[in-house]
Amino acid sequence: MEKTFDLDKIKFSIDPKTFDKAIDLYGKGKVINVTTNPFGFDATVLGSQSYHVSVSNKNLDQATCTCYLGENDVLCKHVIALALHVVMAGKPMTQEDKKQYTEPVCNIETGELDKDELQKMQQEITTAMRYIKAYRGPSSTWFRYQNSLSEGCARLASIISQLPVSEQTAKILVDILLRLDRKLLNAVDDSDGTVGTFIEQTVQILLEYYFIDKNCSKAFKKLKNKETMFGWEEALVNIK
Ligand SMILES: [Zn+2]
Repeated sequence: MEKTFDLDKIKFSIDPKTFDKAIDLYGKGKVINVTTNPFGFDATVLGSQSYHVSVSNKNLDQATCTCYLGENDVLCKHVIALALHVVMAGKPMTQEDKKQYTEPVCNIETGELDKDELQKMQQEITTAMRYIKAYRGPSSTWFRYQNSLSEGCARLASIISQLPVSEQTAKILVDILLRLDRKLLNAVDDSDGTVGTFIEQTVQILLEYYFIDKNCSKAFKKLKNKETMFGWEEALVNIK
């Protein structure tokens, strides 16, 4: 059956606690009797009891589970364990598969990306940016919207954390920041501060870049005389 969610979707949209518990259930072979139905997948997941779990192949949010959380419409670890079983096709997960980035970290390696890597990464950035969109919905879909912002930032955090440090990649980070800043100006409703926090964390990473390689400051020149949403560029522009 064609599925519209993949491992990245699970990783970047599920909170770390639920994700880790689901990895554990899946890894220990607790997802059994997996079958398909016209809408998605069914399985039994063994927890403190045995639960019946279904998930739509279209949307992770459309899932049911007979556990207490599931019956209260909360996306539980059993549903995510089944989703992992589906995307991994029963295969074991690698360390990289299990790695979730909740915030960007500075890579310790230095270096540049080649043409192919650069192109692939630009596509990933474009995909991530789509989750950080303007809010025009009713308040009933507010939480889903906030989740979308978090997912976009988590995707960007993963990309940034894997970049080697150099003037080239510093420019990429500066461009990401400017794109996010424009989005905040254009109706992205960041009242939870998800995007703002992410911008601050990325500025910190650029400062670390500078300490690793002074040439990175050349990438900050683009920020001169720019007025950003909350003056985040000052720390970078003021570097001498
Ligand atoms: Zn459950």
